[in-house]
Amino acid sequence: MRVEDLDRSRVRPGMEEAQLTDLRAIGLDWDGPVVRQSERMKLYEEAIAGLDDDGLLYPCYCTRAEIRAAASAPHGISAADRYPGTCRELTAKERIEREASGRPPALRVRAENIRIAFEDRLLGRYEGEVDDFVVRRNDGAPAYQLAVVVDDFAQEVGEVVRGADLLDSTPRQILLSRLLELHSPRYAHVPLVLGPDRRRLAKRHGAVTLADRNALGESPREVLAWMARSLGLAAPSERPVPADLLVRFDSVRLPVEPTVWSPETAA
Ligand SMILES: [Zn+2]
Repeated sequence: MRVEDLDRSRVRPGMEEAQLTDLRAIGLDWDGPVVRQSERMKLYEEAIAGLDDDGLLYPCYCTRAEIRAAASAPHGISAADRYPGTCRELTAKERIEREASGRPPALRVRAENIRIAFEDRLLGRYEGEVDDFVVRRNDGAPAYQLAVVVDDFAQEVGEVVRGADLLDSTPRQILLSRLLELHSPRYAHVPLVLGPDRRRLAKRHGAVTLADRNALGESPREVLAWMARSLGLAAPSERPVPADLLVRFDSVRLPVEPTVWSPETAA
């Protein structure tokens, strides 16, 4: 169990415990103690220092608005997130001028727009171009991409199963694994659960949290049953427990189309 709590601006007191309580309520458990990224900064800093020693990083002084204005996104990662390389070849003099602004730089990796392909267990072959993405933010925090690559290796994660909205990130993470000389896990990207408007399911869609469903009289076991049905793992009248689902699970049977949630289908 890994708590990804590096973005301190988004971490709220009690959030971690609430999430773990929800997981326990639907019957999930985990091996070993909870690992928190905020307690592993030294590991990430060592990885960043190693990349920097190899000449693979450079400081970037751009603001988010500057990147957006300069970017053009052919596909994949959105224009706002795709870096056009503005600071890649700054001279020493230009760097000093930008340092004078007082705003600390982020660190980016020299990806050189390399194309990386991999075999997704669910979606098949996927190929994406990698831009010079951030590995250390300008507030000093290691970037998500860097931290998960370091952690997946350190925690001996062999297979990453996650939402298809992260498919674009995978070529970046595979590139980082290569640059850090770490073994890369296998990947399976699963479809998201969408609201009736076909946007990612979120609080604006109504009673979507476990607590919300409980308040409406649905037990955690009924919520689990809905999730199992959405994955093709349970019959309509069944109330399975995770141990039932474990023996039925087969990644090739997972749906490749998003599940659309609506209040009527949830119960
Ligand atoms: Zn820049």
